[in-house]
Amino acid sequence: MSIAENIATIRATMDAAAVAADRDPKEIQLIGASKMNDADACRQAIAAGIDALGENRVQEMTQKLGENAYEGAPLHFIGHLQRNKVRQVVGKVDLIQSVGSVALLEAVEKEAAKQGVVQSILLEVNIGCEEGKSGFLPQDLESGARFALTCSHVKVEGLMTIPPADATVTENRQYFKQVHGLYVDIGANLFHNELKCLSMGMSGDFADAIACGATMVRVGSAIFGYRSYQVQ
Ligand SMILES: *Cc1c(COP(=O)(O)O)cnc(C)c1O
Repeated sequence: MSIAENIATIRATMDAAAVAADRDPKEIQLIGASKMNDADACRQAIAAGIDALGENRVQEMTQKLGENAYEGAPLHFIGHLQRNKVRQVVGKVDLIQSVGSVALLEAVEKEAAKQGVVQSILLEVNIGCEEGKSGFLPQDLESGARFALTCSHVKVEGLMTIPPADATVTENRQYFKQVHGLYVDIGANLFHNELKCLSMGMSGDFADAIACGATMVRVGSAIFGYRSYQVQ
């Protein structure tokens, strides 16, 4: 199967999941998680109409930016971001999906201010409260969001999550529903109902995520095929 064929198949599944949930398919974006795939694969996905590409390693993204791999589509950073690499990401991507601590918010704010830009971000939620995983714990999300509102060079567009890898299908859906609940609550309480991105769901569970309210799914292997490393 080609990248274009895979994208067409995924879109059809996404549309069916949206319709089944009484949602408008047009409100759900497909982000290609293109790690470990070269510039040519990125270009194929863009030609096939992917809504955006997402990278999770700074060095790889920087290299592919140099090869104009993302021309014609928005670029997102979706992986764990170290504070000392913020300079290489802020101002270079349309959306940083993976801001999961106040320390990282501070670093993004500082760099965005220095560059004179406003950086769009998502707040990442560690919904399974997993040790060693990035993201705000659910109970810390509101204070993190309040802090983000004090950062004039950061714009929060919504939330992102990766549920625990060992969750059962049922547990996984519960996690998605919980994050959707947080999205609705903080959207109403802190963001005047103006949040528009709820990024959740990957190759194995994007239809479930759409059923639970995702507006953005991040799909890698189902588009690009097998790769030699998985989500950390
Ligand atoms: C790789 C990756 C994905 C996509 O994973 P697949 O299971 O290959 O679809 C989604 N989100 C993040 C943060 C990733 O790093």
